[in-house]
Amino acid sequence: MTGNPASKNAVSTTNACKLCTPLGASLAFKGVEGAVPFLHGSQGCATYMRRYIISHFREPIDIASSALGEKHAVYGGGPNLKKGILNVMKKYSPSLVGVASTCLTETIGDDMGLILHEFRNDFGDLDLPDVVHVSTPSYQGTHSDGFNRAVHALVDQLADPEAAKSERVALFPGMVSPADIRLLKDIFREYGLTPTVLPDISETLDGPALEDYEPVASGGTPVSEIKALSGAAASVEFGSCLPKDSAGLCLEKRFGIENDRLRIPLGIRGADALHDVLCELSGLECMPRRYKLERGRLVDAYVDGHKYVFGKRAVVYGEENLVVALTAFLAEIGVQPVLVGTGAEGKGIAASIEAACEGVLPELPLVREGVDFHDIAEEAETMSPELVLGNSKGQRYARAWNAPLIRVGFPIHDRFGGQRLKTVSYEGTQELYDRIVNALIEKKQSDSPVGWGYI
Ligand code: SF4
Repeated sequence: MTGNPASKNAVSTTNACKLCTPLGASLAFKGVEGAVPFLHGSQGCATYMRRYIISHFREPIDIASSALGEKHAVYGGGPNLKKGILNVMKKYSPSLVGVASTCLTETIGDDMGLILHEFRNDFGDLDLPDVVHVSTPSYQGTHSDGFNRAVHALVDQLADPEAAKSERVALFPGMVSPADIRLLKDIFREYGLTPTVLPDISETLDGPALEDYEPVASGGTPVSEIKALSGAAASVEFGSCLPKDSAGLCLEKRFGIENDRLRIPLGIRGADALHDVLCELSGLECMPRRYKLERGRLVDAYVDGHKYVFGKRAVVYGEENLVVALTAFLAEIGVQPVLVGTGAEGKGIAASIEAACEGVLPELPLVREGVDFHDIAEEAETMSPELVLGNSKGQRYARAWNAPLIRVGFPIHDRFGGQRLKTVSYEGTQELYDRIVNALIEKKQSDSPVGWGYI
């Protein structure tokens, strides 16, 4: 069952189960080398987003803005956008400025494409950075939409039709963690493949301590590699609910590059699908031994941990591609997902969950799209959840249900190390599985009047 029956009469959102759309775009732009995310809107938007991203990644985050005020709402924000980009050029010498619109500029109808065209004409004598723009009104869609649209805009606006053919494989991993991206790059290389990961936040949003402050963090996908993607040998993108204008499909449509769209490779079936594709792309007959061993250990862990997780009733919420992958994984380990909630809607989430759980789950979970945490809590009230998976925004609800919350996804504001949590492939799945089993054991142990020291 899908949809939010209450939404027809709803006049407000209480604790949204999604974040602001240009925030997602800013995250994606942070994964490009030398890039500065730029919001065409008010300073308050940039401050909120910086605060949100910093709390999760614990890295300094600069997001520029055209700092619009009341008069720009009447006369338009074009002059401020141009002035703002010039200021960013002076302060950061960026290789790319990623401009995302906001609620205000979408409402007043600023034509960013036209303004940026004028900017290039007005200042063509300067050494201009690449400027990519994306439309991200926050009253439409979610942070995940903003992220995906920004990745699509980077490919669509930068890929050079004249680029030479190469052996590189484009990887569009979606909103996974910096640790996941490091892991994915290692896996591709182990297969002898050279990936261009877009965006690559592995260093820009999880960097080392430095003696000197870097105005723009090192790392990220080089702009030259994005331009050369039109000559890539193949592309792989993660996400069951991606739009038709995804980055991978853009490469396929415009340059004839074969695209493999996969669920986020979480769980044994999800990871198997990724390794099958990598075998195909690399020409290897089977996965390298180290992954066979990882897979075998994971199967062994499933057997060992089954008695702790089997039959537990779980609530899952968050970004749409993640909830599909998590639900499929829970089904695989014997947990019964009873409710899946997401702020996203109209993306075939229920159908993706049904397809991902076919033949594994005796009973499909209730899927609620376009909901807030208030709706999720109302639905879960009679479901007696024993386990909750999602970002830290659901913490107070998990606490009310007296169920352990396994923090996964973005944002994680009430724990340390969210940027280093892994979920992909056998290694990431193993980490997540261990966390789930231990959380259930810990709950049982702390609820026990006698406790025990051995399991
Ligand atoms: S929801 Fe709109 S107004 Fe609020 S921070 Fe996001 S873009 Fe700005």
